[in-house]
Amino acid sequence: MTFEDAFSKVIDSVKRLPPEEVDLLSGLGCVLAGDIKARFDIPPFDKSAMDGYAVRSEDLSSQNELLCIGELPAGIFQKFVVNKGECVRIMTGSPLPSGADAVVMKEDTEEKKERIRILKPLRPLENVCSKGEDIQKGDIVLSHGSLLKAIEISLAASLGYTKVKIYRRPKVSILATGNEIIEPGEAISFGKIFNSNSYLLISILSLMKIPYTYLGIAKDNEDGLRSKIEEGLKSDLFILSGGVSVGDYDLVPKVLSVYNVKKIFHGISIKPGKPVFFGKTKKCFVFGLPGNPVSVFVGFLLFIKPALDKMMGRRPDLDIQKGRLTVDYHQKPGRKQFFPVKAIFDEGWLVTPIKDYHGSADLASLSEANGFMIADSETSHLPKGANVEFIYLQTTDTAKLVTL
Ligand code: AMP
Ligand code: MG
Repeated sequence: MTFEDAFSKVIDSVKRLPPEEVDLLSGLGCVLAGDIKARFDIPPFDKSAMDGYAVRSEDLSSQNELLCIGELPAGIFQKFVVNKGECVRIMTGSPLPSGADAVVMKEDTEEKKERIRILKPLRPLENVCSKGEDIQKGDIVLSHGSLLKAIEISLAASLGYTKVKIYRRPKVSILATGNEIIEPGEAISFGKIFNSNSYLLISILSLMKIPYTYLGIAKDNEDGLRSKIEEGLKSDLFILSGGVSVGDYDLVPKVLSVYNVKKIFHGISIKPGKPVFFGKTKKCFVFGLPGNPVSVFVGFLLFIKPALDKMMGRRPDLDIQKGRLTVDYHQKPGRKQFFPVKAIFDEGWLVTPIKDYHGSADLASLSEANGFMIADSETSHLPKGANVEFIYLQTTDTAKLVTL
């Protein structure tokens, strides 16, 4: 199976989850299931945009000194009527008193007790934000399908909403497998390996604000796998690491089938990640990733992240950028490669494969990378300067909220 076929199979199989209503802040990073309409105008009243004096602009054609009849701090409502020759001291955000139609900035006045001298002429509505000028009651402010980022959350708050209806986040379960795997904190003995995969997956899910259940480590035997797999299949999406290759102790696909997991594919022509398993039950999608840490990361990036995005109603795109190689690149042809690179932007992207990358177990090299170059299966050599594509892992675009 090619990468492209596998990717389409994942995207075609997973479905958007049903909507639910959540607290406004819990909606951050989710997609709106329905429009948000304004229940009132914004601003809700004509308000002062400046600290200064509310005046009748027409008065200033005949006089430049006005009598101050009172003060309007923001948030305190006091009814004033501004008559000819009068003004009211007003603060930014206060409702304009009746009679007044403009605000003169404090900086453009001279104050002599209650006598206020106006140093500049004024047009009607100057320094006034008119009722409804930003948003009118009934306007659709955020439409169905919008991604709720910081600005959208605050916009909903400005309209008084405390709840939002969103497509719900999937619940994910995580299981590590392997007789040799122990948890950090446990006593290490020869031949044992600390579990890094679960930490990787939990970290990414935490960044994505996706709820997870951690099921620990299962031994490589059917009994060890059974109860944990049964538990994992209760979630919307189940991620296993290890035990999906062709070794004698790679029992994950076999035990999954006992629990009616229908295989959609097992094995893709990619490097790393060749043995990736994907299947489903009625309610749960299952990804079995090969145990090596780089395979886990790449498998997550290529298939699980897009699947989670689609389940939440987000676009399941990979962030693919174009760049130029800074050095020669060689590989053994045969499978499509996702090779860790460091990309630097200098007018265009300059892409440098990580030197001394040792393959799918080499987590240390990965920490120098900020992307994966995509090299086709037929490629054996790409010269310095060649145009390449890579999946970008970091973004300086602060508007983009959820990154790996
Ligand atoms: P497997 O896919 O089970 O054949 O595992 C492939 C390699 O990944 C082996 O060297 C395992 O020791 C290693 N591995 C498996 N699971 C983990 C894990 N949770 N954390 C770190 N390494 C792992
Ligand atoms: Mg194993």
